[in-house]
Amino acid sequence: MAVLPDLPTMIAITMETALTKNSLSELSINLEALAANYHFLAEQSAPSECAAVVKANAYGLGLRPVVRTLEKAGCKTFFVATLDEGLTLRTITAKTIYVFAGVTEENNVAFAEASLRPVLNSIPQVKLWNSRGPSALHLDTGMNRLGLSKKDFLKLSTCISNGTVIEPTLILSHLACADEPAHDLNVQQLKKFQALRPTFQSSPRSLSASSGIFLGPSYHFDMVRPGYALYGGNPTKNQPNPMSPVINLKARIMQCREVARGETVGYGATFRSDKRRQIATIAIGYADGYSRALAETAHVSIKGMLAPVAGRISMDLISVDITGIEGVKPGDWAEIIGSTISVDDLAKCAGTIGYELLTTLGPRHKRIYIGAIK
Ligand SMILES: *Cc1c(COP(=O)(O)O)cnc(C)c1O
Repeated sequence: MAVLPDLPTMIAITMETALTKNSLSELSINLEALAANYHFLAEQSAPSECAAVVKANAYGLGLRPVVRTLEKAGCKTFFVATLDEGLTLRTITAKTIYVFAGVTEENNVAFAEASLRPVLNSIPQVKLWNSRGPSALHLDTGMNRLGLSKKDFLKLSTCISNGTVIEPTLILSHLACADEPAHDLNVQQLKKFQALRPTFQSSPRSLSASSGIFLGPSYHFDMVRPGYALYGGNPTKNQPNPMSPVINLKARIMQCREVARGETVGYGATFRSDKRRQIATIAIGYADGYSRALAETAHVSIKGMLAPVAGRISMDLISVDITGIEGVKPGDWAEIIGSTISVDDLAKCAGTIGYELLTTLGPRHKRIYIGAIK
């Protein structure tokens, strides 16, 4: 996979807010790696179009820099979850925007005015939209979350053939188990999706998100719509990550102290020292997305060595055991996510997935965009 360009040759842009002016933690987002990931996914799914899912503020990484980078990399279609996200995105790009949530009675005019394309998930939504402009149709093939049932879908196809409803510009469905290639549901969903070919002759189709791309060409159809993999997450669970890492998160060491045998560290005194140990206190906590579930399972990396979390995670602080790591002092950085600890690894330690970790990284990190587009 693409090698990251060396840092000094890249331009870094820092997004500073009142909250991050004197930040004790830094989240760097490598836009060159993001572009490399887009190119890689587009290559994997060619000749299908590769769209990009940028919901939830581009998975927490910042909508504007992410979208600008992806546009420059050749992306022509974007997906967001909500109307508000779509309206924000419309101020950034003139490209095609689909909104997964579809329309409501209150907001269908706003969609049309901003040239946003709703993903219509039900017959009532189709009626509300009433062919105001291009839209996608979501067919449920087994996720049972959003989307039209097959029965409703076929009903609708009659309306399309007799001209009461205009043909959708995209038909999509979503895989429930794409990260488990051997799961039966993948083939079942694929078959259901393929079966509607005769109904809508000319609408392009899209089934796969990040992991679906790696299930093979039969899952690609006309368009793929990855999110997570673009941001460096591993779309091939249990296999080496084919994507380039995009984020790096580090936090300052605030204090180092020695604890004697029998002393405890942190709330609840859950960590009791079995011998004399060196403890470092680091400026990151659950308010920054460092989940309380990481207590006693996670490590940070200091001077290239792993230091285990000691005791509970506080709102703004964690303590780690640095016994045996020489020369650590206040002001040094601890790597939270980076070359030694991946997003997927850290999420696993917290009993969650990288998606949740990325989208809950808090507002206090100074965000630095590396390899920024002009
Ligand atoms: C979030 C989402 C995607 C993107 O999924 P990733 O696994 O992040 O690639 C695609 N399609 C739908 C319907 C989604 O909700």
